[in-house]
Amino acid sequence: MNPGQLLLRYQGQVERERAVREVIERLESRLASDPEVVTLEEAMQEARAAQDAVAARLRESDHTREDHRSKLRTREKELMSGRIRNPTELMQMSEEVAHMKARFAEEEDAELHLMEEGEAADEAARSVASNLADAKRVSAAEEPALKEELEAARSELAEIEAERDEIWAQVPPAAQAAYKRTRAQPPVARVVGNQCTACRVTVTSSGMQTLRKGLDELVHCEHCSRILVLA
Ligand SMILES: [Zn+2]
Repeated sequence: MNPGQLLLRYQGQVERERAVREVIERLESRLASDPEVVTLEEAMQEARAAQDAVAARLRESDHTREDHRSKLRTREKELMSGRIRNPTELMQMSEEVAHMKARFAEEEDAELHLMEEGEAADEAARSVASNLADAKRVSAAEEPALKEELEAARSELAEIEAERDEIWAQVPPAAQAAYKRTRAQPPVARVVGNQCTACRVTVTSSGMQTLRKGLDELVHCEHCSRILVLA
């Protein structure tokens, strides 16, 4: 195998290595956290926050109603006590009591709506909790297979790296340097039908001759400067 062919094989290993590393990264990230579970955990937090918000409004509403109820009772007692004889004052007070009763009724209605909101929030939270539990079960069930896959990918990576290093060791230093110097990526391109397959430009006839002789001398594409190898 001449240096160009070795470099092409080396490049192939580098590409395989990159692909396997991506697989490993994806598996590791999935094993670290399942995006489905993470999304549902966030939804769970939101559902709990919504429950807390309704609960706080209910407490506030209870407090206000309690306050208004006791004021209303006090006023009613005063009204019924017979202590107030002045008709104007009586009239004012009875109007005030009527007004307080109306407001109290409105507050009762509002409280009922709030309780309905609270029930809806509870139901939503229950539903998210159930979905989250399901997602966690599915995620846990998938883990053993994913771990096996990860294990296999890691040993494949080790093999690729060993092979890659073995090939690189066979590449003459001048060709190694040429490979590292080449800016275009990937640095090696096959030649098919007299064309550089990377940039589609036709290889010069002298370049083709050198390639056909299969010598140690490297041929570069005149257009993209990649190292050329006959397919
Ligand atoms: Zn080219």
